[in-house]
Amino acid sequence: MPDRHFIQSFDHVSIDILIVDDKPNNLRLLSTLLEREGYSVRKALDGEMAITAINTLSPDLVLLDIMMPGLDGYEVCKRLKDNPHTTEIPIIFLTALNEAFDKVKAFDVGGSDYITKPFQIEEVLIRIRNQVMLKLSEERMRHLNAELEERVIERTQQLQSANQQLLDMALHDMLTGLPNRALFMQELQGALDAHHQGNETFAVLFLDCDRFKIVNDSLGHCFGDAVLIHISQRLRSNLEPTDLLARLGGDEFAVLLPNILHSDQAIARTEALLQTFSHPFQIEGREIFLDASVGIVVGNKTYSKPEYILRDADNAMYRAKASKNHRYHVFDASMHQEALQRLQLEVDLRRAIEQGGLTLYYQPIVCLKTGRIVAVEALVRWFHEAHGMISPVDFIPVAEETGLIHPLGNWVLLEGCRQLRQWQVNQQVDESFSMSINLSVQQFHDPHLIDHIDQILQATQVRPQNLDLEITESVIMEGLMPTMNMLHQIKARQILLSLDDFGTGFSSLSYLHAFPFDLLKIDKSFIQRLDHTSSESVNLVPAIMAIAQTLKIQVIAEGIESLPQLRDLQRLNCARGQGFLFAKPMPPESLQPLLGVSLFNQPLSLDYSSTEVRSSRPT
Ligand code: C2E
Ligand code: CA
Ligand code: CA
Repeated sequence: MPDRHFIQSFDHVSIDILIVDDKPNNLRLLSTLLEREGYSVRKALDGEMAITAINTLSPDLVLLDIMMPGLDGYEVCKRLKDNPHTTEIPIIFLTALNEAFDKVKAFDVGGSDYITKPFQIEEVLIRIRNQVMLKLSEERMRHLNAELEERVIERTQQLQSANQQLLDMALHDMLTGLPNRALFMQELQGALDAHHQGNETFAVLFLDCDRFKIVNDSLGHCFGDAVLIHISQRLRSNLEPTDLLARLGGDEFAVLLPNILHSDQAIARTEALLQTFSHPFQIEGREIFLDASVGIVVGNKTYSKPEYILRDADNAMYRAKASKNHRYHVFDASMHQEALQRLQLEVDLRRAIEQGGLTLYYQPIVCLKTGRIVAVEALVRWFHEAHGMISPVDFIPVAEETGLIHPLGNWVLLEGCRQLRQWQVNQQVDESFSMSINLSVQQFHDPHLIDHIDQILQATQVRPQNLDLEITESVIMEGLMPTMNMLHQIKARQILLSLDDFGTGFSSLSYLHAFPFDLLKIDKSFIQRLDHTSSESVNLVPAIMAIAQTLKIQVIAEGIESLPQLRDLQRLNCARGQGFLFAKPMPPESLQPLLGVSLFNQPLSLDYSSTEVRSSRPT
């Protein structure tokens, strides 16, 4: 609807009216009248002329006589209405009262109104005015509509681009700007679909930076971020434009290589990509040497999901990382089999923990002066229905990786303490006899550990002085403050602490004084090398013993297998020993007869040197 302002601003001069009449008199009369009103007026004497005039310049209104030679008014009107350029022009028919005038037909062909002759000038002006107003308001409406539509389009575009931005953000890594895991998976899905439908081939590389964690931890996260950006840029510049490079997270990247049929091609591309790391990164004035390990999967029809491809590439990458000689590894089906087996192992282990499928064996720790058992080490055993005895060496890592180490470790603690308490109650052991329990790194960093220990000691009535927790050097190498805190909480309870496998890790005697250890277990590899006079262990073991003595830390020699080893250690005044020479780990009922007697009086096994640790079975 036209607004008030618009109606009042009605401007006659700008209104162009075409009068069509075959009678010049009529034309003149009407035009004079309208011009006087301020309209600008054009004239046509017949239908043809009218159409030509209109096509040349569209009028705002046509006053159209009906009865004319040639084209009559109805026909002119019809033609104008049929033409999209002229269809909007309002037409008022002029008709004499005495003529046969068909109103219905007039509206039918598209007329807007009609005026009968002779005219009453006021009527003419009002009808013209009405039509002009109508036309102007329609025009304005159309204009507003167009404007609105334009705005809608504009808004829609804005919305679309905002959506696109959001989508981009959701599919890209903020730090490096590279596609992220989600986008990579999407593209990989596409490649896999194309592979299943036709002959498109591809390979996936899973790249993980070596030593990045060290850089990040030692030089800070900002520096780490800068390193990642540099790495991503170098990787990108070593790839083809059609290759898709994505950052999966952390220091993990993935590459989708199109048109790879054989692993040889993928290997060649990988070797080229690894050139990225051949020279150091110059970042913030520092020179950083980095390297990477790559897992390779060549796409094949056995894959139904992109996730499986990435999983296998990830596995292959781990294989590469574990290998000393190779920086990449091509995934093969046997690895898949292994992965499945490992998965099954995890399922079985979970069940074993839940359903009491684990047992504890105990290995005597012997006083090297008297030969009496002064302590035992609890060693977990798993007898698998299908695979027989599985070594802790094989399933503890699985438990650590999957978090199962927590329920497992708690069970070992409880069962070990329960057994000790039973021996105490039966008076099979004296009150200094202790139970050694192995704690793995994850357990040690579990904030609930100390509560668990308290509960178990409480429940089993075992005195903390009779519990000995064995931890390896790796525990104390991982972050000092929380570790110290935990060690002191343990010590505050008077629980004993042993440093296990000493000599296998970062072994440094210099840090020993900083930690509250009661006992130090020299690793069996040292003890076993004692036999070889050329070995440096011959000197090392005495050195360790001497330092331990000044620190008032008692030493346990692990893995004593021969009498000469025992003699050497006795000569060095080593307090305690453990090893197949005295006894293998055994179930409690086998151990019981040995408690309280000197193993020196027992026939000691002399030839255990070839015994497999893994197959420690009941004796
Ligand atoms: P470890 O703590 O160093 O335990 C000593 C290992 O040396 C035991 O292997 C034991 O059977 C073996 N051993 C003892 N004497 C001799 C010997 O004279 N010669 C040789 N060659 N080996 C000897 P086992 O029972 O197979 O346990 C292996 C490892 O598994 C343990 O090494 C420990 O790290 C881990 N483990 C065992 N039980 C547990 C547990 O309950 N919790 C945790 N976290 N780890 C455990
Ligand atoms: Ca141990
Ligand atoms: Ca050990």
